Amino acid sequence: MTDILQRLRADYCTCHEAYRTRDMLDPTCESCATKDDRTEAADEIERLRDGASRWIPVTERMPEIAATCWVAIEMRYEVITRLAYCERSGNWQHIDARPILSPVLAWQPIIEPEAYKP
Ligand SMILES: [Zn+2]
Repeated sequence: MTDILQRLRADYCTCHEAYRTRDMLDPTCESCATKDDRTEAADEIERLRDGASRWIPVTERMPEIAATCWVAIEMRYEVITRLAYCERSGNWQHIDARPILSPVLAWQPIIEPEAYKP
């Protein structure tokens, strides 16, 4: 099945030629009738996907500034997710400042929520 964004953005217009040539919409055309809502839904999904979490392997890059991040830590039998602090030197620490002794495989920034609008 194709991606939901492609399906939402698909134009399957079935407007009758008589409407098309007059630049009018055929009231029986589902594509045209739902186009605005589908576009809005697709835009919203894209916006949410952009804000969604994405792991960045430490071999790819490290945080540019000292920051608290989510990290994937390789333990003996599993990979765990924890909040951690990355020092400017690139060393990882637990939030309580203990060093992380196991390998950190990947990290991701903490996503700030949108500003609250009362
Ligand atoms: Zn149409």
